[in-house]
Amino acid sequence: MSDPLDDMYREVILDHYRSPRGKKPIKKKDIESEGKNPSCGDEIEMELDMDNGKVKDVHVNCHGCAISVASGSMLAEYIKGKSLDEVKKISEVVKKMLKGEVDNLPEDLGDLDALKGVRNFPVRIKCALLAWMTLIEGVKNYEKGKNHPKASISTEDKEKE
Ligand code: ZN
Repeated sequence: MSDPLDDMYREVILDHYRSPRGKKPIKKKDIESEGKNPSCGDEIEMELDMDNGKVKDVHVNCHGCAISVASGSMLAEYIKGKSLDEVKKISEVVKKMLKGEVDNLPEDLGDLDALKGVRNFPVRIKCALLAWMTLIEGVKNYEKGKNHPKASISTEDKEKE
């Protein structure tokens, strides 16, 4: 049997943690969102540059544990080039996977499967969820219109999980 801790810190997680994607700042910020995970102390800032309804570029700045950083890094990788509908679908399925409501992700979301290991550690699920909750809140805000420039969430906000 594999060690659940090893399972959580798979190589792909550590790789994203050591060199997070989406580090490069972007100039045009159509979507801005920030999130906090008080139970672990993780904090994330996210900006999206939208072009023709699609995510042209993503900037993710996450300070926190390996799981939160890796999750944000994978997010940056996977939502680039996607439409907002696709972004919402990906976020939903990742959230369900992290909560154990679905077991397998579509094949094109391959690496994200590595986050599954957190399901053995309920406290860490929020670390992995943080980036996705922050993203969803930012998208919701964007769709409401220009009067809501910056979104903000906490993983403690029950209704937003
Ligand atoms: Zn964390």
